[in-house]
Amino acid sequence: MDSQSEPNIRVNELRKQIEHHSWLYYVQDSPEISDFQYDALMRELQEIETAHPELITPNSPTQRIGGAPQDGFEKTTHALPMMSLENALNRNELSAFYAKLCDTLSDSETEVVCEPKIDGLAVSLIYEDGVFIGGSTRGDGFVGEDVSANLRTIKTLPMTLRKPVSGHLEVRGEVCIDKKGFEALNSAREERGETLFANPRNAAAGSLRTLDPRETARRNLKIYLYQIVEPEKLGITTQAEMLNEISALGLPMQGEQKLCSSLGDILSYIDRWEEMRFEHPIDTDGVVVKLNRLALRDTFGVTAKAPKWAIAFKFPPEEKLAQVQKIDVTVGRTGVLTPTAVFDPIHLAGTIVRRASLHNQDEIDRLDVRVGDYIWVHKAGEIIPEVDRVEFTKRPEGTQPFKLPENCPVCGALASRIDGVSAVKCTNSACPAQLKERILYFASRSAMDIAGLGEKIIDQLVSKNLLHSYADIYDLKARQIAALDRMGEKSSQNLTDAIERSKKRPLGAVINALGIPNIGEKTASDLAERFRSLRVLEKISRDRSEELEQTDGIGSVIAQSLHIWFSEEHNSDLLNRLEAAGINFKDETEIADKSNMPLSNIKFVLTGELSSMTRSEAAKKIKSLGGTTADSVSKKTDFVVVGEKPGSKYEKAIKLGVPILTEAEFLEKLANA
Ligand code: NAD
Repeated sequence: MDSQSEPNIRVNELRKQIEHHSWLYYVQDSPEISDFQYDALMRELQEIETAHPELITPNSPTQRIGGAPQDGFEKTTHALPMMSLENALNRNELSAFYAKLCDTLSDSETEVVCEPKIDGLAVSLIYEDGVFIGGSTRGDGFVGEDVSANLRTIKTLPMTLRKPVSGHLEVRGEVCIDKKGFEALNSAREERGETLFANPRNAAAGSLRTLDPRETARRNLKIYLYQIVEPEKLGITTQAEMLNEISALGLPMQGEQKLCSSLGDILSYIDRWEEMRFEHPIDTDGVVVKLNRLALRDTFGVTAKAPKWAIAFKFPPEEKLAQVQKIDVTVGRTGVLTPTAVFDPIHLAGTIVRRASLHNQDEIDRLDVRVGDYIWVHKAGEIIPEVDRVEFTKRPEGTQPFKLPENCPVCGALASRIDGVSAVKCTNSACPAQLKERILYFASRSAMDIAGLGEKIIDQLVSKNLLHSYADIYDLKARQIAALDRMGEKSSQNLTDAIERSKKRPLGAVINALGIPNIGEKTASDLAERFRSLRVLEKISRDRSEELEQTDGIGSVIAQSLHIWFSEEHNSDLLNRLEAAGINFKDETEIADKSNMPLSNIKFVLTGELSSMTRSEAAKKIKSLGGTTADSVSKKTDFVVVGEKPGSKYEKAIKLGVPILTEAEFLEKLANA
């Protein structure tokens, strides 16, 4: 192993990888690897650090909890840190944990409570005199995001406790989404052409951490509480009593916990739960084992991120062997060809599974998967089937490496690999498969929000030759819609109304709907805010793309995408038709006249951590005073504000001679503005 010869090099590699995946998981709610793979990386890092304690730093992922709180929410500092849990990845590790308890305590003291480990996100709730006043996420364990408004939308969360409790009470638990809710949410997103959540945990986290509580309310989140902070105030002395009290307060609780007094008891609880979890409505990723008597917990203390008196036994992912019958290739909105392994049905993690995405040619090559092969399949987050590896010992004679076709399987046009990425794309933009996906995206909620224009209706409209582009939607006649299969009078009227309403969608949504490569919802809304008119954006993108590239937050990839899209003649026809149909091309919201504001025309770049506010709060303050902020330093930057541990922007500012402000100088500037 590298770590034997060059432990410091391996430690750095692992930290980089773990930090990247933590960011995807905690901040983006969009992991790229399974929890099992993540835990294996973390375990390797922990093992090297145990062997080489001199390599441990306070910033190592082994010493830190969760991810930094997201901008956009108020921050809440937890009165007591919200810790994580140590993991046991197998029964031996769990036995070692229990043996340590037994070695330290007398026989009568080793009782533990086993609880299902709910795969959601941890939250803290505050009640004052029995009334809910707010709550926050765990964040980095010390500071979380204030998600009070979103928590209030969870129907099972009582706003008043069933039993009077005077004064301040903090309870902690997990917000999650049940499996049915998750599947419904993902299929609605698929129907609208939106990206899918990888698993229920990410769906719950993404839903609780959206800035729009109405959106949270639609997601039907659940909450289960498992901890009262400062239980001694209520005279509670054990975990079992704590759970009873939670229930008596009228707070939702899992209710599957068990008091165990031997290793055998614990293991049989785990065995039972390992089977039951697939039938259970909520995704659970393990069993938490906690020392029952609260007074004894101090004997064990805590590490930098977790208590030593509890452990989370993590279920290994269930995997099954299946034989690949064929590899299907489908075509998406942007023409990308996606291969899917189709195999004999297997019963996996509670459902029958027949297919698993192979993503792209690189993944096929990495796995070396061929038609006829036996593959090991597991479910990411117990939901999404994934191919783990090929069982090469069972490879039949005569299999051939699989290559994506050179022609689009739907329209037959040339399919070619896009430079620099793994994707192979159909080159025909009129390809019916691409067309359907583009229309689906156009009608999706974050774009034109045409409710009722789903996959099946689009299929019919395309095959009846009524839709050749999304602009054709606005030429559809009510009678053509009414004549579609399974279209009642009411749904036909609803669809006609939704099409009409979509004409008034805000400019950002319209730009998003166009389906320009690399322009998603956020970039589209930034472009709308900056240019305020689709025609202005079109002109600049077509004629002055170098200028666009220099614009803050746009950069060369987006500028080039816009340039290419707006320069194509058929797109210009599309725009003309959309405009003629009455689609909103302008952002009419009022903008404040910034010319007389104290920081007008002053451009700031922020780097490093500020102690008095986050960078995004600083940016908001600058904006409210008429100034602007940029992501990179150039000669046009007026000031670079430098906090603790500044990045390369600081060096660049020195190199270019841009004036530098310390945090104190910056605050003074704001105060005098
Ligand atoms: P964790 O999920 O291993 O365990 C701690 C958490 O369990 C607590 O904070 C609490 O939120 C939760 N929990 C659920 N039921 C509980 C109960 N009954 N009692 C107490 N706590 C309960 O730790 P974590 O710090 O939240 O997250 C780390 C884990 O997240 C990793 O082990 C990994 O599985 C996953 N992760 C995955 C990726 C990825 O890319 N796939 C990235 C980062 C983290």
